[in-house]
Amino acid sequence: VAVRRKGKLAIVDLGGESLVFHLKMTGSLEVLPERRAGRSTALVIRGTDRRGRPFFLHFNDTRKFGFVALVAGDPLASGPAAALGPDALDLTAGMLEAILSSSRRRIKTLLLDQETIAGIGNIYADETLHRARLHPLTRADRVPRGTIPELHAHLGAVLAEAVARGGSSVRDYVDPCGRRGSFQEEHAVYGRAGEPCRTCGRAIVRTVVGGRGTHLCPSCQPAPRRRRAGARGH
Ligand SMILES: [Zn+2]
Repeated sequence: VAVRRKGKLAIVDLGGESLVFHLKMTGSLEVLPERRAGRSTALVIRGTDRRGRPFFLHFNDTRKFGFVALVAGDPLASGPAAALGPDALDLTAGMLEAILSSSRRRIKTLLLDQETIAGIGNIYADETLHRARLHPLTRADRVPRGTIPELHAHLGAVLAEAVARGGSSVRDYVDPCGRRGSFQEEHAVYGRAGEPCRTCGRAIVRTVVGGRGTHLCPSCQPAPRRRRAGARGH
């Protein structure tokens, strides 16, 4: 009936029931005129298009982290999408300010938490924080209030540009028509450790925040100052 998205989930509405896909790291959906299952194909669904021609939706996933769920009723009310926070593209600056000001977590960890804001992946968190000149370890409630509209605008711009360019094909990602994305060519920090910052020339650094590889410019995104000696934010 329709295909839509919330956060990182693709929702295929079948009329009363929905298929909810998460591609995770290496999953892809591919629409082909014939069945062409390969070694990494987990599922093939045969459908018929509006002109009555058959098509075959393939769900491929080499590393098998992705999943598909069949959900009865409203797919936003139950199943994997029910726990998600507001979609990043629906977020207003006011909503972002409310989320940040009520959290003591690190800004990057917060941006990646799908139950807080849905749809921001590791690449897009790094690129957004770089544009906003925020260090990923900055405590959310210490992001200066006046800079939140700018952070919000950078988040929206990064996501919109990435969508327009078909995403980031840093490994083997392709869209359902088999096309690679090209946003990886625009990355300012992600995957550029050791290369010069495009703003200041200093080498981009890779570190780990909340278990995730994290890329930043140490000049453009200075580390947050500790307010109390020995204080441990979390
Ligand atoms: Zn820089």
